[in-house]
Amino acid sequence: MGDDFLDAVCAVSTAQAQGAISVVRISGKDALIVAGKVFVPLSCKRIEEMTGYSCAYGNIVDKNGETLDDGVITVFREPHSYTGEDTAEISCHGGIYVTERVLRLCCENGAEPADRGEFTKRAFLNGKMSLTQAEAVMDIVSAQGELTLKSARLSREGRLFEEIKAVKARLVTLLGELAAWADYPEEDLPQVEGSAVLETIDECMSVQRRLVENYDKGLMLKKGVPSVIVGKPNVGKSTLLNLLLGFERAIVTDTAGTTRDLLEESVRLGDVTLRLCDTAGLRETDDEVEKIGVELARRRLDESVLVIAVFDGSETPCDEDRALAKSLDKNAVVVINKSDKSSAAAVEEYRRLCAGLAVVEMSAVDGVGRDELEGIIAERFAGFDGEGAALFVNERQKKRLEMSIEALESAREALLSGMTLDAVTVELERSAEQLASLTGERITDSVVDEIFSRFCVGK
Ligand code: GDP
Repeated sequence: MGDDFLDAVCAVSTAQAQGAISVVRISGKDALIVAGKVFVPLSCKRIEEMTGYSCAYGNIVDKNGETLDDGVITVFREPHSYTGEDTAEISCHGGIYVTERVLRLCCENGAEPADRGEFTKRAFLNGKMSLTQAEAVMDIVSAQGELTLKSARLSREGRLFEEIKAVKARLVTLLGELAAWADYPEEDLPQVEGSAVLETIDECMSVQRRLVENYDKGLMLKKGVPSVIVGKPNVGKSTLLNLLLGFERAIVTDTAGTTRDLLEESVRLGDVTLRLCDTAGLRETDDEVEKIGVELARRRLDESVLVIAVFDGSETPCDEDRALAKSLDKNAVVVINKSDKSSAAAVEEYRRLCAGLAVVEMSAVDGVGRDELEGIIAERFAGFDGEGAALFVNERQKKRLEMSIEALESAREALLSGMTLDAVTVELERSAEQLASLTGERITDSVVDEIFSRFCVGK
């Protein structure tokens, strides 16, 4: 490599904004050579002599030896760095211009500007982390609440990777047994039982299904839970919406495609954001304009994960209320409103109609019951698993999992319909391949390794 082309990439690792400190990161085989040209430590040591995990205060200098800024350099030695390569991090003053100048200096001294995510990509390529761990880095950066952060941390620590790896290991073991049994009959290997194969398939499938289910939950945590307030006119839906919005009135967004009458608001309850719509009533009508509103409300109702059904506790239920109560499923939360003037008999009747559902008596005008309602909703969407946090897979991971599940379903079918074990094997391999690409490993090598390590065939 010539002088101009060193093996090093550089980038500003802190936000593109004025702040107290900025960090310029350089990584690669020649990172410390670049750093040595840019940074002069005030201690006698040269950068190239610094050990890993050590820092030095000094000056950042240009090619003429003129000082541009002063700061601190931190040196990491491969493989003990984020990327697994020699790395230098220069902390300079956090001005936008001065930071850009430091970056430019690094480039002038042989480093190449890094691509998006390049440090993490290098970490992956250098075996510092699996693909899912690498992806989790971005999730940590973009996490907006405790649960999404927890999930990202779990993935970063490798829990998703471990889960996938465990499933894949079971498939690979099974593939190994099937292959050995089919290819080396003379070895007197134990016969592979169909029921055992089925059991493994089912268990692998259930782990993956759970992860896919969590995708929706994760998305809801990140983007908000599609929610709707329903009830006949005048029961207090708008009042309730305003109560939930409080002073933190979020930006009003139109629901895509249904902009005319349904306005969506974001309401944050603890860790959960609701994308909440107040709808027109769902009654039968001949009025053309109202019909459109009703249709929109119905569609929104279908799309919603959370339905808040509002009844007026000061009036006995009418047919419309009864029909609404009947249409609710267990995901609905029932609000019996106007508790300040409600009648015990009416409340009793609503409770009976909504038996089995979560019911809150409240007064939307004066805020009584708000905490209880918020508590129910927050708990419903926060309690994703026993440990208080679930693994939320991303879109790419979900797709891979779905393809893997599909292959397992085909394997299952092949087995049950009495097809040859070869047909089963093909599908199992397909599933394992999807999992391998999910974590970034290669499948063929591991299948081969597994066969040889477990059965010592070819001795
Ligand atoms: P919507 O048609 O369902 O959206 O109902 P609104 O929110 O417009 O409320 C209808 C009427 O009921 C308004 O006059 C509100 O002030 C009143 N209202 C709403 N909630 C309560 C409540 O908890 N108690 C009482 N007494 N009145 C309420």
